[in-house]
Amino acid sequence: MNFNFFRKEINSGNASVKELVNEFFLKIDSINPKINAYTCLTKQIANSQSERIDNLISKKQPLPPLAGLPIAIKDNICTKGVVTSCSSKMLQDFVAPYESSASDNLWSSGAICLGKTNLDEFAMGSSTETSFFGTTSNPWDINRVPGGSSGGSAASVAAGLCLAAIGSDTGGSIRQPASFCGVVGLKPTYGRVSRWGLVAFASSLDQIGPITNTVSDAAEVLYSISGKDPLDSTCLNKPVPNYLSGLDNSIKGVKIGIIEECFNHPGLDPEVRESVLSGVERLRSLGAEIFEVKCPRFNDGIATYYVIAPCEASANLARYDGVKYGYRSSEDNNLIEMTSKSRAEGFGDEVQRRILIGTYALSAGYSDAYYKKAQKVRTLIRRDFDSAFNKVDVLLTPTCPTTAFLKGDYVNDPLSMYLSDLLTVPVNLAGLPAISIPCGFDKKGLPIGLQLIGNVLEEHRILNVANIFEKDAEVIKSHPKL
Ligand code: GLN
Repeated sequence: MNFNFFRKEINSGNASVKELVNEFFLKIDSINPKINAYTCLTKQIANSQSERIDNLISKKQPLPPLAGLPIAIKDNICTKGVVTSCSSKMLQDFVAPYESSASDNLWSSGAICLGKTNLDEFAMGSSTETSFFGTTSNPWDINRVPGGSSGGSAASVAAGLCLAAIGSDTGGSIRQPASFCGVVGLKPTYGRVSRWGLVAFASSLDQIGPITNTVSDAAEVLYSISGKDPLDSTCLNKPVPNYLSGLDNSIKGVKIGIIEECFNHPGLDPEVRESVLSGVERLRSLGAEIFEVKCPRFNDGIATYYVIAPCEASANLARYDGVKYGYRSSEDNNLIEMTSKSRAEGFGDEVQRRILIGTYALSAGYSDAYYKKAQKVRTLIRRDFDSAFNKVDVLLTPTCPTTAFLKGDYVNDPLSMYLSDLLTVPVNLAGLPAISIPCGFDKKGLPIGLQLIGNVLEEHRILNVANIFEKDAEVIKSHPKL
């Protein structure tokens, strides 16, 4: 169900917003135990938000743009008075004392908060398997992962347990799970959306964005959460265009560049390749001009990211010491022992691995060889994109090399797990906007995603191409049967 369909239900007057939202909670109660997408429900908040909208309706007052639309929030985004756990034992009991700017904007736009969704611990992972609360299942096949780290958000949208969900994307965590779950995921330009209240993983890469059923729903959410924020100095002070207008513009003459390096990669599943290339043909038939472009450093993204992200993470996660924040071990003989025990018991394996890699790569004697070098490659990757955007308007790749894998496939093989971010991390390193849209299914019936990458602050362009594609393709009209 998309936003406009739900609005029709609200406007029909057959049921109040409170009743309609309650239907979502009933559905969550019956389906969530099968997929573990939500870690916490916010029924009281939803009730009072719904009553506010019902009141406006009964008084025939103008409604805010997202009035009554039920939305879920990834649990690494602070929601005042509600647990914000990052799916970690470390923050299991942490009740956020303030609201993130992105979610605050949603509630002032009239949206309804259904609850918090599961993620890989501290957003580190590609499968939601590193969550302290257990894995989320993919609604298309519950033996498979939903992707990650925003797996709970993507699964809840795909399963119809909310109309939209908010995720965070440091190296692909919105787009990869959107691709695995057959929904739309948008990572905005770095700084387009405030990071205030997003628990920091890698601050120079993190960005909040929407996961939705349709491209136009993503455009609406993006509009609501974007814009300057005095609480985040990295948030851009640039006007926010109405992303809905121009969505239906013809894409005749739009120049789309196919990144050669992605399609030649040996790790790319042939079925994914074929499906995305038939998506390219669809765009051509809709009037787009297709070009092949080279981004020679694109495939170095993964090595670069897995140095820079852990370095930033090791610094950001230093605050969880059992004193300032988080779980405290019962060991209290001395401060050093207490702190190290708290961290060893409070963090899971993957988080500890990242802290160790980051601390090592930043340590004296090594930082030039690793961190500084990675920053240099990051610049080269950005330059590749710059020169590609001199020739074309939008770039295109598959979102992921494969479709959703089986639970357990890579839990003991972190390097293979990291490879599933091959096609998404370069976008974060360059700070660009990108969207994943469903473009087909493999022979197992699993969704395949196509990624469109835009130049800085050109969200409107990728939304336009994505929307025209979506309207033409039948694929998005099917839903998982749970
Ligand atoms: N899968 C990537 C990682 O584990 C990306 C995570 C993210 O975007 N939050 O780092």
